[in-house]
Amino acid sequence: MEDIKSIRLDVKRSKFQAMSDGRCPQCREGKMFKYPFWRVDKFSEMNENCPVCGLKFEVEPGFWYGAMFVSYANTVALLVVLGVVVFYFFNDPPVMYYIVPITILSLIIVPFNFRISRVIFLYMFGFIKYKPLK
Ligand SMILES: [Zn+2]
Repeated sequence: MEDIKSIRLDVKRSKFQAMSDGRCPQCREGKMFKYPFWRVDKFSEMNENCPVCGLKFEVEPGFWYGAMFVSYANTVALLVVLGVVVFYFFNDPPVMYYIVPITILSLIIVPFNFRISRVIFLYMFGFIKYKPLK
């Protein structure tokens, strides 16, 4: 009879599952972040190395600066979508009706945006190959 851990390792995660779960791009098992994103006091704390395969997440010094561009793109996309929604659903209200919800929402999503930007940047520009365990 197999124990739960070996059964779990048999199930291969898709790249999308691994990314949305913030897992290591090399083994798709180890978590990149130490705490879940709703821990707003510690959302940015990362594991330096993968706890399962030992991959160093910061591929080179200053690597995470690149994730800021992904974060910027996410924020602009949110701004455009929300701007279009406000324009059509509230029949082009005064400017404050755009600024307030966009500012509030972009602040609320900071922990999520921070993480997903690093994950996307690592998967896109880390050039790390997926090596399944065993
Ligand atoms: Zn790993």
